[in-house]
Amino acid sequence: MKKLFLSLLILIYPFFVYNQIFITPEPQSMTKRIDIFVGQGYDIKYHKLYISVTPGSDHISGGVFTKFIPLDDTDTMDFDANQCLVIDSVIYHGNAMTFIHQNNRLIIKNLTLVSQSLDSIIIYYHGTPAASGFGSFYSDSQWLWTLSEPFGASDWWPCKNDLSDKIDSIDIFIEHPSNYIAVANGLEQSKVDLVNSRTLTHWKHKYPVATYLIAIAVAPYHYFNVHIPLTEGDLQIDNYVLSSAYNNAQNAMPNFSKVMKFYDSLIAPYPFMNERYGHAHFGWGGGMEHQTISFVGSFDYELLAHELLHQWYGDAVTCGSWHDVWLNEGFATYFTALSQEKFFPQDFIYWKNQSIDFITYLPCGAVYVYDTTSVDRIFNSRLSYRKGAYILHMLRWILGDDVFFNGVRQYYQTYKYNSAKTEDFKNIMEQVSDTTLTEFFNDWIYDEGYPMYNFTVTNIDDDNFKIQVHQSSSCHYNTFFEMPLPFLLRYDIFDTIIILNNLVQNQDFFINLPMPNEIIFDPNKWILTKNATIIIDVETYLNKQLSIYPNPASNKVAINNHSNNKFTLVITDLLSKKLIVDDCILPNSTYTVDISSLITGTYLMTFKSEKNEIITKKLVKQ
Ligand SMILES: [Zn+2]
Repeated sequence: MKKLFLSLLILIYPFFVYNQIFITPEPQSMTKRIDIFVGQGYDIKYHKLYISVTPGSDHISGGVFTKFIPLDDTDTMDFDANQCLVIDSVIYHGNAMTFIHQNNRLIIKNLTLVSQSLDSIIIYYHGTPAASGFGSFYSDSQWLWTLSEPFGASDWWPCKNDLSDKIDSIDIFIEHPSNYIAVANGLEQSKVDLVNSRTLTHWKHKYPVATYLIAIAVAPYHYFNVHIPLTEGDLQIDNYVLSSAYNNAQNAMPNFSKVMKFYDSLIAPYPFMNERYGHAHFGWGGGMEHQTISFVGSFDYELLAHELLHQWYGDAVTCGSWHDVWLNEGFATYFTALSQEKFFPQDFIYWKNQSIDFITYLPCGAVYVYDTTSVDRIFNSRLSYRKGAYILHMLRWILGDDVFFNGVRQYYQTYKYNSAKTEDFKNIMEQVSDTTLTEFFNDWIYDEGYPMYNFTVTNIDDDNFKIQVHQSSSCHYNTFFEMPLPFLLRYDIFDTIIILNNLVQNQDFFINLPMPNEIIFDPNKWILTKNATIIIDVETYLNKQLSIYPNPASNKVAINNHSNNKFTLVITDLLSKKLIVDDCILPNSTYTVDISSLITGTYLMTFKSEKNEIITKKLVKQ
């Protein structure tokens, strides 16, 4: 799932939008839900869902035939069913059964369920669907669609709203006005005209699917398809779009095809090769990764790449609980960025910078969702999406490309058509890398915040210098982020990267190289941090970057900046009172500071570069 309107606004109005994300409540009626563990006594095998709908009407009616395997001998079973739905009857072995429908739960009694013995039941219902989460069910005269994530499936059909018990296969029959097209998961099987200008469209999906990924859409669609050659053969991409978006959808296909081939070769073959993939246009401001048929509000590159990635991580491998939603959304966000790294490298650089700004805008917040009753928190774009994605980026940095990509492939293969939790992913990455990641996951997934660094660089002799690393956490003072830290060292005739494995506070690293002309921390933005400060040994650095003369001085001091850095200068007295401020000492230039207003005495000149290097030098006024 991706809320596109937020992403677009972030580019334009960062401050405004960040406030929007955290302060504005969801407009829908129900953003919180208390977990009731329904359906724990049986394993869902199959549904045949029949639903009669009309765009412009909120009224639906339908029936659900369910095959299941009881886990124990019992006379009771239950389903999730919102109170807005009226349960007309429940049929078991040809008999109408007694049931209780309260607190959004349908409890059926007097059954004769036998442990591990395949059984079936039919529920007939009608009503006006509720609108929880992101809407669940939407209908106007133009079109109609469902969006069940996270808890909304039972707003429009009685089901088992569960992430770990996937439905093994499903038939979906949609009865709708004949002048509309009806779309659902899997492959279209048939379309039969009924009386009263109604049509019955039958869709069938034969892969395991989580309940929230079942969806229908009914609209006056125009259809086109494209074919993409993938590692296991040709895949058909079905596009159902309103005429207003038809050209945009067609124009999006060349880049979309590249991304599909990229994921298919990078991760694993497309998970639903026996069927198809497709897009159904809908009116929500974003996209939703319904299995084999993403619903999209536009045909924007990032939106299509995000929803497509979910077919691997989200649909084939589903987060095992909403606590672990970053396994869906962090993956979709990061792999979209990886597609940009591959095809649009400048966009990837922009993504890294913008993500760091967005994530560090607030000091706290865990990626792991401790409160799953709040839809706002589950789908928090700063934490579940961006920080989740940046954690994958850092894991790639720590493990290296080969191990990281082997790990995410292994994770996919292990949990394909199933569900997984954070600890499952951690265990796979530990096995593949043969290292413990407990500290990393504790710091970055379960704990909050990010590190902020101060580096003190000291010259030792002509061939050696020292970097001392100090870090503080943005959120909890006692969190320490173990991390390999990259530095770019610039010399007259070469550049080199060194990596310092920061494991303890105030750690000293002795580097057997001359003091460089310039030190740049993390030039490729592997680490989630901001405002790292580099404090550099004055005399050595000044000789390489800045010359100051005369000193002592009487009226004027000349500063010769022979570096490529821009500096700001503040002159203070020894009590830190600011006396002269100059914010622009340009690269490769000479600048004169008028100090005639200062009384005789000793002052401090503090230079700060754009890279947050700070240099302090005594100035004596005669
Ligand atoms: Zn998503």
